[in-house]
Order: sequence, then C-alpha cells, then structure tokens
Amino acid sequence: MTDLVALSFKEEALKSMNIPVQEYFLPKQILNASLQGPGSIPRELLLYGLQLMISEKGFNYKGQYFASLDAHNSPVETGFENSDWHRMQFVGCLLGGAIGDAFGAPVEFMKRSAILQQYGNNGIEDFAEAYGKVGAITDDTQMTLFTTEGLLRAWVKGCFTGVTSELGCIGHAYQRWYQTQGHTSPRNLDVTTDGYLWEQTELHSQRAPGNTCLSALAEMTSFTAPAQNNSKGCGGVMRVAPIGLYCWRLKNQFTVEDCFALGADAARLTHGHPTGYLASGAFAAIIYQILDGCSLASACMSVLDILGKMRCHDETTLKIATAIKLSRDPMPSYRAIEYLGEGWIAEEALAISIYCVLQASSFKELMSMSVSHDGDSDSTGAIAGNIWGALYGFRDFPTQWVENVELEDRINEIACDLYDFPLWDIGADSQNTDLNNIAQTRYPGT
Ligand SMILES: [Mg+2]
Repeated sequence: MTDLVALSFKEEALKSMNIPVQEYFLPKQILNASLQGPGSIPRELLLYGLQLMISEKGFNYKGQYFASLDAHNSPVETGFENSDWHRMQFVGCLLGGAIGDAFGAPVEFMKRSAILQQYGNNGIEDFAEAYGKVGAITDDTQMTLFTTEGLLRAWVKGCFTGVTSELGCIGHAYQRWYQTQGHTSPRNLDVTTDGYLWEQTELHSQRAPGNTCLSALAEMTSFTAPAQNNSKGCGGVMRVAPIGLYCWRLKNQFTVEDCFALGADAARLTHGHPTGYLASGAFAAIIYQILDGCSLASACMSVLDILGKMRCHDETTLKIATAIKLSRDPMPSYRAIEYLGEGWIAEEALAISIYCVLQASSFKELMSMSVSHDGDSDSTGAIAGNIWGALYGFRDFPTQWVENVELEDRINEIACDLYDFPLWDIGADSQNTDLNNIAQTRYPGT
C-alpha cells in the first residue's frame, strides 16, 4: 500500500470528494479518527503508509505540501508522485465537466442580458435549479459518461477476446444512451442494455438532448458508421474529453494523432459536417496533450498543427487561433466571448471554452464566465470544466458544488475506472475470477 492519496485537511472536502481512499484499502475508522484535529498532520494516516497532500486552505495551491513519516516517525515533506496527480486530473476532468454542465443548465436558453438581470452583474455565480433540482447535469454529461463506458467496455472486450473496437463500443454505448432517452434503437442494431451505467436510473432522464444526436442515432446503420447529415452542432465535441484521457492512458498504443482521429470519429457517429467532428478530434487531442504535461496554449498550438493536415479544417483552426489571440487582449471577457460566437456549433463551443480557461484565474470565475453568455451555456461550461480539471485537478472546486452536482459519486468512480483500467488483472489468462466477474458485470465486453 504505497500509493499516494491526495487529501485535504478539510473534513467536508474529504467527504465531498469521495477520493479513492476506500479503494486504497484504508479502513474508514482510521480515516475518521485521524480527522478529529484539523491543523495537525494526521499521524495515523501516515503510519498507515500514506503520503498526504496537505493544504490548510482546502483544495488550493497555496500552503500545500506533501508529507510522509520518516524513519523516526516524524512527518516530513516529501515529493509528489505523478501517478496520483494524474488520477486527480482524470477525476477533475470529468467532475469539472459535470459541474460546468450543471452550472450552465439553468441559463442554457437565456440571453446574457436576462442572466444578468436575474443573477446580478457578474452573471450566474452559483448552482441554480434546472430540471427540478439544483446541480442537475444534462445530456452533455450523460453522453460523456456513455463515451467513457464505451471505452472501458472496449478495453474489457479486448482483454477477453483479443479483438476490440473503441469506436464500435462507443457507438454501442451511444445507443444505450439513446434508449435512456425513451427511444428504441434501430432494428438492424443488436443493442445490449446492461452494465453499470445503464443501471443508474438518474441517467434515464431527458435533459434537453440534442436533436442531431437523437436523429443520427435513430438512423444509425452500424455502430461505427458516420452520420449522414451536415451538422456541426456542439453535440459531438461536448462528449469526447474521456477519449483524450483514455488514449493518453494507453499512450504506447495511441499517439496524439490517433487520439485526434478517435475523437473525430466518435463525434462523426452523429455529426457529419467536418467542423462538427474535427473540433471534437481537436478537443480530445488537447486533453491528451494536457495530460502529457502541456499548458493549454501549447496543447492548442500542437493540435493546430494536426488540424492543419486535415481537409476542411479552416473553421476550427480559425476559431481556436482566435481564442488564443483574444486571451491576450485586454477586452472584457464577455465581449471576447461574443466575438467568438454562441457555442451552439462545435468550433465556437470549443473556442469559447478555451478562451475562458485561458482567461479565468479560478474555477469559480471560470464557471461564471463560461456560462453567462447568450449561447449554449451548459456545453461551454462542460467543455471549460473538462479542460480546467484536466489542467489543475479538482483542487479549487468549491466543496458545495462537488457535493451538490448530480451523480458526483458515480462520476468520481467512473473517472477512477478510466484511470485504473490498464492495471486491471482481467482477461482470459487471468486467475482472478472475482475481478473478471466484476469487470464483465460492470463493463460487459460485448
Ligand atoms: Mg446539454
């Protein structure tokens, strides 16, 4: 038990983050006992072999250090293990996207002027009610989770059968999502409704699903066939962040160009216009590059190189380049966002999100900025949240948002699965029957 687990002194933050302590074999009573006296290093945890990331201000950068026990059982500052920083990025990426989605949900169909009138001059600054609850996610997060499921099922399938198709499993997962929306899959497709995600009844709820996605899935001829439409709506780009994470986790198999291609192909299942899927490839590749240690600006620059080799890349290239340029301009952020568009279409949603992440100085500011505009607030909030979480982890997510975003515990779990899967001892050669059964029940590889 040597893994570093990132913790905060704030008890409420620990509870809310549901960080993977239990998965790391830490008895709960030890964890609870060690949290009685915030302000001192919880020695029991250190004795247990954990290293801690400690921040007296919660999930902030300031005042943070890492500690473990030395040979004399004294707490000492230690280094930082990349593996667990990356886990925080995975969780931050999916959870940040969900929070951004929930943040934008109440104002998705409102003009900026109406948002300011209702919520004040800074725009919306906290969760508000949408779909009958506070913190409700929408189709953006639903489809992001089904993208993740498709990837994990593809991995499990490969482990047991030796052959797999990420794209095919993503297409299959989108059909399951389609059924959660109350529709029947096309007759020619043999869609199985099983696995962990399908069982989450909260997902069986309509949250303004995109018409393009619904009609493309209704007309799907195979799990890998490109959509026969000319849509470049943002319904493709908003859901592909997990592809960046997955491909980076398997970077021996997937180059950043491969990641771009899978991100584009996954969007193309529903969005047939080149900008609709190239913006998605670009987004997945940006997430991959961030995990690889790039800043957002440098990730964008290298993705612009990839884009430049694609046919019909001009719209996407221009918007990303403009977002970077505007981030260096002193004009007010709402003006820059207006200049970039409204985000209903793919390249605008990505560009607005990139601009906001480059411009915001905190996650709180990002949330308000990325959704308080005339356009598709939940999608720009979701993409911006994905990017922020991939860059900085979940350290500056306010606790009350983490606690109140719908499905927080499930999103955290699935993000951890997306980080852990290459280490699962599963497959035809594995003797670990229990784990094989768990994997095949959770992510049936069919
Ligand atoms: Mg939505």
